[in-house]
Amino acid sequence: MAFTLAPLPYAFDALEPHIDARTMEIHHGKHHAAYVTNLNAAIAGTDAENMSIEDICKSISKYPMAVRNNGGGHYNHSLFWESLTSHASSAGAPAGALAEAIIAAFGSFDEFKTKFAQAGMTRFGSGWAWLSVAGGKLAISSTANQDNPLMDIAEVKGTPLLGLDVWEHAYYLHYQNRRVEYVAAFWNVVNWDAVAKRYASAK
Ligand code: MN
Repeated sequence: MAFTLAPLPYAFDALEPHIDARTMEIHHGKHHAAYVTNLNAAIAGTDAENMSIEDICKSISKYPMAVRNNGGGHYNHSLFWESLTSHASSAGAPAGALAEAIIAAFGSFDEFKTKFAQAGMTRFGSGWAWLSVAGGKLAISSTANQDNPLMDIAEVKGTPLLGLDVWEHAYYLHYQNRRVEYVAAFWNVVNWDAVAKRYASAK
């Protein structure tokens, strides 16, 4: 039972002008596709072949680096695509229980955005910024490479609710070295409905 690359849930140009079509095409069709291919190769003939990607991440310390890098790559990008949308109605700000939890944990939605952006900006080299939940508590963190909060080796563990890819491949074509502009633009395309659903089933 091999892992497969799901199609993007929207068109490549759906996130323009915030995330450009060419970046989405290469990011999904080349980068994510390669993580899937390399993950399948790395787990061929092992017990991980019959496990969910979540369970593989949760016991990642048992597996070789190729599984950690490519399994994380597959999980992280799958979550990332589902966390983005072109629909203005669901962009902007969270509502309901998630909004309340964010205000309780970080003081305000703006303060949350500032701290999350900081996590992305201070990640040296390649990695991710995260909002995750563990035992009902929200946390912001960042991970290197394709690690994520699900992994048993993560410094801050939890169920990922929102992830931001800050690898250069996620923004370089359009923003070059200006990661700060990419992180600012990201807020225009966050699918808060998807994040809220994840929160409701995880907390
Ligand atoms: Mn990526």
